[in-house]
Amino acid sequence: MIEKRRVFIQKLAGLSLASMVGCKPLVAASAPVKRTGKPIILSTWDNKPANNRAWEILSTGGRALDAVEQGVMITEADPNDTSVGYGGFPDRDGNVTLDACIMDEKGRCGAVAYLQHIMHPIRVARLVMDKTPHWMLVGDGALAFALAEGMKKENLLTPKAEAAWREWLKSSNYKPISSENHDTIGMVALDQNGQLSGACTTSGAAWKMKGRVGDSPIIGAGLYVDNEVGAASATGLGEMVVRACGAHTIIEFMRQGLSPEMACKKTLERIIRLWPEHKGQQLGLLAIDNQGNIGGYGLRPGYKMTVTDDSGTRVVVPKHLFEWD
Ligand code: ASP
Repeated sequence: MIEKRRVFIQKLAGLSLASMVGCKPLVAASAPVKRTGKPIILSTWDNKPANNRAWEILSTGGRALDAVEQGVMITEADPNDTSVGYGGFPDRDGNVTLDACIMDEKGRCGAVAYLQHIMHPIRVARLVMDKTPHWMLVGDGALAFALAEGMKKENLLTPKAEAAWREWLKSSNYKPISSENHDTIGMVALDQNGQLSGACTTSGAAWKMKGRVGDSPIIGAGLYVDNEVGAASATGLGEMVVRACGAHTIIEFMRQGLSPEMACKKTLERIIRLWPEHKGQQLGLLAIDNQGNIGGYGLRPGYKMTVTDDSGTRVVVPKHLFEWD
């Protein structure tokens, strides 16, 4: 009996060995791909200064990862941008809480969520990726890590954001996401070595519940990079993006051969087909493929993107699915 069992196991072992011989090994999705390319940067909304900073890095041969990190830091430090970093609108209790993530060409990623008092959440996300065994830190843990890394604790609630919050308190009427209360920056880039990276950073939905985290720091929802295919990012109602694993779905459509624009469109169509209750809300998507072709799509009018390449920086208006306003 024991002998029979031994022979059976040997046969099994032989079989699996035989089935491996002649099989092409699968290429890991994270394998760095060797190619050269024309550098290009694409970001959500009108974010020209952020793209220009990223371009300084890309145009001098820098890495896409450094370009997207440095680029979105410009928006994070801008007190007039009320949806990202310093000057971001707070939650309903008056706390500015930040979410961010970053991903590189090797599929390495880092993120922070519900981070307070730190001007550059994207820097913290990068350090989580580079220096810890984890991919995401949240709340007090993310803050403690940032302080240990030498970052300063700051008050991020500007007088302008505080005044808007106090005004909002009078009605306390929460509109999930409208054209006035969101402007997250998602940025993707292709560098001269043909490598892709992306970053996404936000203060999230204005007047959200305390503790709410959206799609922006979630790898696969607000941002995804697959160096074999492309990179994608989302802006709009996080609760809707997460349901569809938005950025990852765009990449999968591109893997099947769709252009970046069509992949974004198909992702929006899937969301509306599955969850028609999201029809009147805003969602803006963008993507770049590994050759530097770019595209985006909005759910409704108003969505914009910023492109930078060797012919300069310009704001483009992608197509949209529905005509409401
Ligand atoms: N996606 C962000 C969130 O839901 C909002 C935005 O895009 O501005 O937190």
